[in-house]
Amino acid sequence: MRFIDEFRDSELAKVVVCELERLAQGRHFRIMEICGGHTHTIYRYGLHDVLPTNIELVHGPGCPVCVLPMGKVDDAIAIAKQDGVILATFGDMVRVPGSQGSLMDAQADGADIRMVYSPLDALKIAQQNPDRKVVFFAIGFETTAPGTAVTLLQAKKLGIKNFFVFCNHVLVVPAIKALLDSPETQLDGFIGPGHVTTVIGSKAWEFIPRDYGKGIVISGFEPLDMLQAIYLLVRQIVEGKPRVDVQYTRAVRPDGNLKAKAVMEQVFDFRETFEWRGLGWIERSALKLRPEFSEFDAEMHFDLPQRQIPDPKVCQCGAVLRGTILPWECKVFGTACTPEHPIGACMVSSEGACAAVYQYGRFSRKVRELLQR
Ligand code: SF4
Repeated sequence: MRFIDEFRDSELAKVVVCELERLAQGRHFRIMEICGGHTHTIYRYGLHDVLPTNIELVHGPGCPVCVLPMGKVDDAIAIAKQDGVILATFGDMVRVPGSQGSLMDAQADGADIRMVYSPLDALKIAQQNPDRKVVFFAIGFETTAPGTAVTLLQAKKLGIKNFFVFCNHVLVVPAIKALLDSPETQLDGFIGPGHVTTVIGSKAWEFIPRDYGKGIVISGFEPLDMLQAIYLLVRQIVEGKPRVDVQYTRAVRPDGNLKAKAVMEQVFDFRETFEWRGLGWIERSALKLRPEFSEFDAEMHFDLPQRQIPDPKVCQCGAVLRGTILPWECKVFGTACTPEHPIGACMVSSEGACAAVYQYGRFSRKVRELLQR
């Protein structure tokens, strides 16, 4: 297939669903899609409605904005409020609540906060404002970390002195290991993240069948990609042969993107441990700047509160990110918590599970039925 319409062909989708129904007969399957982009495909294209009822999809921790704990938002706000600072970050991050409000609230109070599409845009702002300190609030998984690394190499090459990075890049593999090590995790297999795996390579997932006896299929993001990936995973489970399968062959290679991995290696080192919303502290699950780049490290140049702040009691984002509840099972879903007035990060981000269900789930027959119970 070459064109986007072909990946959305409803007749072909019906054929795959029929095959899936036949294959999946006789037992229940509980499958986690790790990536928030996949969660959005599931609801946006109504896959949730057409899948057999014995195939249950639960959503994973693959939304980079959602997994950052509130304390990190507070740290970013503290930086933004310091004299002469311009804080630049991705749009999703601006509306995520911290303990005293969001970056958007801080902007309304006078902080200079700018939304950017890439870290290079933040570097450009630094070049255009030599009398200001420009801090890039870097978030995201292995998909966005290479961009931050390249930007830091560029800043070093150009000798820029007023550019800093508040590094909060996190790594997917340690998070999935932590989930699998948790006794509350009851899953039959995973739909693996397509974009992250283009960088880290499909070999990075071999620990799942080897150490945990579960299967994983790396999937693309169109509806037929996902249906085929679910089919391949169910087939693995039925055959009792867990392995790493790649459905997203048009982008994923066994070793990933060697150049991207090399720049990350050059610029970043592992943090000993890092706090994830919902998953707690996970060893070597996040990146920090290497000492050679300390001149750009915001943590070395700005005072940060660095407090651990639990989510509000009503917020169940942690349970959603662990896949132990589905978004509509949170008591405040769609009532006190909406995209206009989010209580938790999962309702804010374009990759958040609650935002996906809120935006598209009201058109879903199954979600409507579940909400009415
Ligand atoms: S509905 Fe809101 S508070 Fe509840 S889990 Fe989702 S984002 Fe968090």
